[in-house]
Amino acid sequence: MRTSRWLSLSVVAALGITGCASDSESLLPADADVAAKETCMSVKEITGRAPKLVSTVAPITNLIAMVVGDLGPTVDGLVPEGTNSHTFEPPPSAAAVVEDADVVFVNGLGLEDPSIELAKDNAANAIICELGTAVLPGDEWVYDFSFPKEGGKPNPHLWTNPPMVQQYVDLIRDVVVALDPSNTDGYNANHAKISRVITDLDAAMTTAAQTVPEASRKLLTYHDAYAYFALRYDFEVVGAIQPSSFEEPSPKEIAELIDQVKSLGVKAVFGSEVFPSPVLAQIGDETGVRYIDVLRDDDLLGEPGDEQHSWADLMKFNFTTMVEALGGDVSALEAVDTNAGVMDKAFYPQ
Ligand SMILES: [Zn+2]
Repeated sequence: MRTSRWLSLSVVAALGITGCASDSESLLPADADVAAKETCMSVKEITGRAPKLVSTVAPITNLIAMVVGDLGPTVDGLVPEGTNSHTFEPPPSAAAVVEDADVVFVNGLGLEDPSIELAKDNAANAIICELGTAVLPGDEWVYDFSFPKEGGKPNPHLWTNPPMVQQYVDLIRDVVVALDPSNTDGYNANHAKISRVITDLDAAMTTAAQTVPEASRKLLTYHDAYAYFALRYDFEVVGAIQPSSFEEPSPKEIAELIDQVKSLGVKAVFGSEVFPSPVLAQIGDETGVRYIDVLRDDDLLGEPGDEQHSWADLMKFNFTTMVEALGGDVSALEAVDTNAGVMDKAFYPQ
């Protein structure tokens, strides 16, 4: 609903917490977290060979790789970086990637439904573990601009919220320990290392957020990826430019956005490099507001094998970019050591 675009986040969230309203077709029951967690933990111990893990988007693939390290399980990503993960349809060749998987980890909350279908059709023995669905109760789902309640899918971008990511890695650790209990100590050691990075990033972002003047803590982004980030660090998501169809907004909608940018006094408009759009430049030009088009939704920095090719560096980059553009002090973020000290041995299809 275009008319709901400029509702404040708190209003949208309040509308969103009622679970399955009769006037909407929610694709998920409000207690989906309970069943999702049970499914993740239904894995059975594997002996005599290394467990085979499959993942979807790169930030999650990296988090799994951090917990697994060099302890044996293989980790294969399905979604190439730089593609639109919301509309990604796995190619036929992906069937071979999932067919002998033991666990297919996905973000869930409706992000990767075609990949889940692929796994159901081709990986008879795989447990499909929906991390985001498992860790976030239905009363905490956020519906908003690009993820309206009537679409039935809550905003899935939990990985922009470090405490939620901590819950992801807790669950990943629990799953791999159940699969491969002989390496429990090793998984716990890796889990501690990535947990240190998550804790440091959260503390630094909390500090950095306080340095952004309160009136400037307003986010207008092209892609609506920061709902859970905003809740954690007391920002207000005032809108998203990308419609829920993932198409470009109409000229009328752009004109409305320009009016809103002027009246709200936003300091910067943020684009995402996965979704290049001339609309952002137009809004910047016509309002005089800075536009920054380098945020990265789920596309890690660098290339596989590079030290910065990690969830942690992705968050450090995005958080720093936003705080700097909104007039805050990024020194706490710059001081975070994002290197967990674990080698990412995952395979990333590019
Ligand atoms: Zn996204």
